[in-house]
Amino acid sequence: MNGTQPVKRMGAVAVDPEATTVRAPVIARTVRTKIPATAPGHLFEGWDEVRTRVTDAPLCALLLDFDGTLVKIRRRPWEVRVPQETKRRLDRLARNPKLFVAVVSGRRRQDLQTRIGVPALRLVGLHGAETDGRNTKLSRESKKMLALAQRTAIQRIAAMPGMRIEDKGLSFAVHYRGAARQVASAARACLLEMVGPLRQWLKVFEGAMVWEVLPNEIPGKGAATLDLLRKLPRGTPAIYIGDDGTDESAFRALNDQITIRVGFSPESQAKYYVRSPDEVLAFLSRLETQLKQA
Ligand SMILES: [Mg+2]
Repeated sequence: MNGTQPVKRMGAVAVDPEATTVRAPVIARTVRTKIPATAPGHLFEGWDEVRTRVTDAPLCALLLDFDGTLVKIRRRPWEVRVPQETKRRLDRLARNPKLFVAVVSGRRRQDLQTRIGVPALRLVGLHGAETDGRNTKLSRESKKMLALAQRTAIQRIAAMPGMRIEDKGLSFAVHYRGAARQVASAARACLLEMVGPLRQWLKVFEGAMVWEVLPNEIPGKGAATLDLLRKLPRGTPAIYIGDDGTDESAFRALNDQITIRVGFSPESQAKYYVRSPDEVLAFLSRLETQLKQA
C-alpha cells in the first residue's frame, strides 16, 4: 500500500499527544504519514492480551468515553439516559480495588455526574478541561475569541436547517446530526472560515456528527488521559475505549496499551475495535468476570 495512511501505533508513549495533531487550518485530525496502517482487530479475538495484562497487574486503569461508547448516540444528546444495568456495572467496576475507572468525555462534568450518578467513578469533562481537581483556566483573549466565534456561529450557522449550537461554557459545539449532507457541508465551510483566523486561540475537534470549538488551553483527551495515569502507580496498564475522532489523541497517547474503538475504522489508531456500545457492555461484563478469576 503506497498511499498516504495514518500512523498506527508509534512505539513509545507520546509525552504531548496533542502536539502531534494537525491544526491546519484548525481541525485537529489523525496524523498522516506514508507508513501503511494495520487495521484494528476485534477485541474478543485479542482477549489473551487483556487477560494477561489484567491478571498480572495489581491495578489497571479503565478509561471510557461516554456518548457512542457507554451509551448509544442519540439525535438529541440531552435525551441520553444511562440504563440501570450499565450504572450498576460501572458502580461495581469503579469500586473494584483492582481497577481505576474514569469517564473521559466532551460533555460537561456536571452533566456526566447527573446522567451517570456513580459516586466512585472519576469524571473528566470537556475534553480534559474539567476534572475533580483543577479546571482549565482560559486566558482573557481565549474567552474573548471563543465568545466572538460562538456569536458568529449563532448568527451564521444556527439558522441552517437541522444545525444546533450548544453552549458548553468553556467551549461550544456545532451539532449537525439533524442536517442534510449539503447543509452540514456548508456549515463546516462556514465554521472553518470563521475559526481559521482565530487559530492562535481556538481549535476544532471533530466528533460524531459534531464539531467542538475549544480554546487551545483545553488539552484534549490524549493529554487528559496521560494526566490521569500520571497519578497512578508507574507502569499501571490502561484500557481506553472511545468511538470518534476526539478519542484518537488518547489512542495515540496510549499506543502501548489496550485501546479500543467502538465501530470499525481502518484509519483508527486504536489497537482493537468492538462493534457497538452493546459490545462495550459485554466487554465490561467479561472484564468483571476476569477480575474475579485473577
Ligand atoms: Mg463518543
